[in-house]
Amino acid sequence: MPETNYEKGRAWVELDMESLGHNVSVLRALLPEGCRLMPAVKANAYGHGAVPVARELNRLGVQAFCVATAEEGAQLRRSGITGEILVLGYTHPRRLGLVTQFELTQSVVDFEYAALLEQTSLPLRVHIAVDTGMHRIGERSGQLTRILKIFHMRNLQVTGIFTHLCVSDGRGAEAEAFTSGQAAAFWGLVDELRRRGYRPRAHILNSCGLLRYPMYGGDYARVGIALYGLLSRREDADGTMPELRPVLSVKARVAHVAELLAGEGAGYGLSYVAGRDGRIAVITIGYADGIPRSLSCGRGGVLIRGRRAPIVGRICMDQLLADVTEIPETASGDTAVLIGRDGELEISAYELAEADGTITNELLSRLGSRLSRPN
Ligand SMILES: *Cc1c(COP(=O)(O)O)cnc(C)c1O
Repeated sequence: MPETNYEKGRAWVELDMESLGHNVSVLRALLPEGCRLMPAVKANAYGHGAVPVARELNRLGVQAFCVATAEEGAQLRRSGITGEILVLGYTHPRRLGLVTQFELTQSVVDFEYAALLEQTSLPLRVHIAVDTGMHRIGERSGQLTRILKIFHMRNLQVTGIFTHLCVSDGRGAEAEAFTSGQAAAFWGLVDELRRRGYRPRAHILNSCGLLRYPMYGGDYARVGIALYGLLSRREDADGTMPELRPVLSVKARVAHVAELLAGEGAGYGLSYVAGRDGRIAVITIGYADGIPRSLSCGRGGVLIRGRRAPIVGRICMDQLLADVTEIPETASGDTAVLIGRDGELEISAYELAEADGTITNELLSRLGSRLSRPN
């Protein structure tokens, strides 16, 4: 896909498909025997753009995806994405038409939900969610009878079963013991099912699961954040981690460069006051585009002409200000990098997430719909 077929006018996302391909290779090399990637492309592929990402993954031979909602699955199908698409979350019965129309696979959040699905008389392909300790969705792994009843439902074709690891990113013996307990509970249940002749595809690994606990196996690895070349936190990576490459950059334009004299204030609340005569660049991106307002007042920066300019004053909804006194060539129309590289320098998604007191997953998935993206 050429990257040039979209507007890089005001504020946009760039995707490095070579890095995505690199991450796919690296993660595939870690897959346990018989396990395939089922990338998580929910929330617009963690803000990257679900369609271009899934299309590239299809091209790389990926034939299974997971999304959060039936609407997300439908969007992928409408764009020609092939392979299995698992809806990880609840779909209201009123929206189940999307699941059948677009040949999606629905997760069963518990026995009662399965009974509701059964009553619709729609022929549904499902994966059963199993709770092994996270206590989010799923039937408890000990509820063999209730789970078997789901297998017996006439309209439901149970093609898979899965659980979710909730401390796979945690350090220390306690987190490791908990994760091992989750795997034991899950595989114990799967063994019981196999003994009764049921062979659903079973999956348990997320990104940290695949990176740290590949021995817990499964037919799919539901990898999200690692595919995008990141982990939730910088410190989640340890020395043994393979090298992953960030896929996404966010860029915007310099709209205007203005003189600001010593003692003059700028922006809402005039919270920035120039300590010397200097220059301020107005950048065409704001918090409505997903740049956290908490990066205001020097806590964040942008890259212009290969150098770093601090964000000054309060970030606005659609614009922000950067002090470019030290980058005198700065001119209207220049590119400003909010996330990504410019020459020798880089601003990583980690840096923004840390400044905002959150994880990369949240930062990326909240990138705004107003950003132009490859299509
Ligand atoms: C989001 C999600 C994933 C992917 O998690 P990462 O940590 O980003 O790899 C996997 N499984 C389920 C059930 C999820 O909700």
